[in-house]
Amino acid sequence: MCPYCLTYKESRGEIKLTFRSGRTWILPGLALHYIADHGWLPPRDFMHDVMHSEIAAVAEMKILLIPIRIGNLGNSFRVGDTPPGFLEKLESMASEAYQEEFCSS
Ligand SMILES: [Zn+2]
Repeated sequence: MCPYCLTYKESRGEIKLTFRSGRTWILPGLALHYIADHGWLPPRDFMHDVMHSEIAAVAEMKILLIPIRIGNLGNSFRVGDTPPGFLEKLESMASEAYQEEFCSS
């Protein structure tokens, strides 16, 4: 259930994405809905990673950095336009991340 529009959206927990940039991000499963339907503008570094960095396997990262949690929107949040193709890229990265989680368990 989305707390903003009170519509039911299927959400599969959290999405964890680790990039070769060295950053790990944790997003709520509803993050894609927040971007697509509420215009939520994610942090600049996150958009940069999605557009320009590659997904890294957690095992290949020598140092495990502290994940950055984003997308747990409060009463107000930044809205704006994401770069062209951003949502599609994030969507496919998120679905791969889910698959990995499923396979490793
Ligand atoms: Zn909503």
